Amino acid sequence: MALYGSIEGGGTKFVCAVGSTPTDLRAEVQFPTTNPEETLGRATAFFEGRGPLDAIGVAMFGPLDLDRQSPTYGHITATPKAGWSEADIVGPLFDAYRIPIGIDTDVNGAALGEGRWGAGEGLSTFVYITVGTGIGGGVVVNGSPLHGLVHPEIGHIRVPRIPGDTFPGTCPFHGDCLEGLASGPAIAARWGRPAKELGAETAQAVEMAAQPLGFAMANLVLALSPERIIIGGGVMQLPGLLEATRRQMLGALGDYVGSAALDRGACAYVVGPKLGGASGIAGGLVLAERAAYLLQ
Ligand code: ADP
Ligand code: ZN
Repeated sequence: MALYGSIEGGGTKFVCAVGSTPTDLRAEVQFPTTNPEETLGRATAFFEGRGPLDAIGVAMFGPLDLDRQSPTYGHITATPKAGWSEADIVGPLFDAYRIPIGIDTDVNGAALGEGRWGAGEGLSTFVYITVGTGIGGGVVVNGSPLHGLVHPEIGHIRVPRIPGDTFPGTCPFHGDCLEGLASGPAIAARWGRPAKELGAETAQAVEMAAQPLGFAMANLVLALSPERIIIGGGVMQLPGLLEATRRQMLGALGDYVGSAALDRGACAYVVGPKLGGASGIAGGLVLAERAAYLLQ
């Protein structure tokens, strides 16, 4: 059986593992994300002596250059995260091991992981969204992660505002895009404290987050026709938010899309992830396998 390296490169921590499936990991390590040289150095060193590996897959925070023809393929592009703009992610790994290196966004990676072993099993076209410190989304189309101009940036979809709502939103680029209205920091800014400390205001906060989330999902349904939407992240732990988001999505669609999958309140259509914290490492394994088979 093939043996792969997997890296989940997050803004606060890196997780590295060796294995072939999420239930068969031979070794795993976590360390804080510092500067690119030190962090990628630790990731590279972790794989030393744990091979031979057939490939390494990286599910990486972005934005990323995923254009194979580009001289900066596999680099981060411009990120607000200090020190990481233009960082070469693939180069140091390839130079160290000379094996195929797969890379994709953290959310495309998580989508692939959920597609292989989790809530997207058996599907070919689906969306994975995480609602946390930021909002991100990965898209799998006909079994492959969607790239194009760059890669999907679902967190920054523009959504209609609740009439009369004047909260400006927290996105430094757009103000009241989806992330600016419904991310954890957006909820904290609107209410003056973190989402999980809201108490009596929780029900109203849930409705105000569900509206933009539901509209964004309706737009995804209309644009991509996914077979399912998987939605996770810390904010989705708010009681009732998943149900309210489904309801808002269906309201925004207005019975236009005729599919039995949307019946019964879309409870089997908009679902939580199955792999929880393991979706990123699972995604890295799928990305490694895709790289080994020269898929991208
Ligand atoms: P990250 O996005 O940083 O990778 P998470 O997906 O855990 O990590 O999201 C963190 C965000 O989720 C924070 O803004 C936090 O306030 C929020 N959050 C975490 N737990 C809860 C909870 N139980 N209820 C509501 N919000 C939560
Ligand atoms: Zn934005």
